[in-house]
Amino acid sequence: MNHIKLKAFAKINLGLDVIGKREDGYHEVRMIMQTVNLYDKISLSKTQSNEITLKTNLHYLPTNENNLVYKAAKMLLDEFEINQGVFINLEKKIPVAAGMAGGSADAATTMVGINKLFDLSLSKKDLMDRAVKLGADVPYCLLRGTALSEGIGEVLTPLPAMPKCHVLIAKPGINVSTKFVYDNLNIERIEKHPDIDGMIQAIKDQDLYQVTSKLSNVLETVTIKEYPVINEIKKQMIEMGALNSIMSGSGPTVFGIFDNYNKASKAFYKLKTSELAKNVHLASLYNRMDQ
Ligand code: ATP
Repeated sequence: MNHIKLKAFAKINLGLDVIGKREDGYHEVRMIMQTVNLYDKISLSKTQSNEITLKTNLHYLPTNENNLVYKAAKMLLDEFEINQGVFINLEKKIPVAAGMAGGSADAATTMVGINKLFDLSLSKKDLMDRAVKLGADVPYCLLRGTALSEGIGEVLTPLPAMPKCHVLIAKPGINVSTKFVYDNLNIERIEKHPDIDGMIQAIKDQDLYQVTSKLSNVLETVTIKEYPVINEIKKQMIEMGALNSIMSGSGPTVFGIFDNYNKASKAFYKLKTSELAKNVHLASLYNRMDQ
């Protein structure tokens, strides 16, 4: 095999709780992760040059070791002492610095691509063990689907697939640094922790209405204080028929869950033409059985 094309899927957090801070500065989380059918396209081709060359459609993204795609490729090529190079084309569609783990998804997918292209024969577990070195969300981006994520994000428990629904995703025209949000979160002052265990039960019961009634993200308090537009988008989504709407990850992306496609589609067009959001996508859920 000399060439491979893959998709790197974004995630949303149906629930995000922060339960502590470790001595090394990492936060301990409990999150319900869900992959959505919004993806970047990554193509990888073997070259004889002994170098990693990365091209991307977003001119402002780094194409050197600061890009997680480059880092992921280099990590595996170095470990297995591969004397060939790789040309990688990254076509971004997942909003950047948005709370949708776009970079982590790209890193995970690049690992899968390098493993296949160079016949490294690494299992999914082998890849997941290495992935955490690239970022706390990268192991989850290899697992995909509905999952409980604990530890710093690397302790994963697969959950049954969510009931079918439509996800409206809207990112306002601002970029939020994940570090800023975590640095400004005061764990002692969190007033209401999300009901993560209740959400797990609701997913097991396949009860979409219980799941959506429990959507909750503790990081909202930090990000919304800085950017009230997030609240405006949430309100609009609920007015337009979302069962519920919250911010994903450290934001600023907001998502709304709909049980009705017509309502979701009307809301999509309305938000797309509003001043509130810059990137708007209507997606379905992506589950492990879709792989
Ligand atoms: P998370 O949900 O994990 O917090 P995010 O959506 O907030 O992720 P990303 O889009 O993954 O953030 O990227 C954040 C920063 O990482 C960007 O500002 C960018 O400079 C850098 N970066 C490195 N590699 C990539 C990549 N492949 N795609 C996007 N950003 C990347």
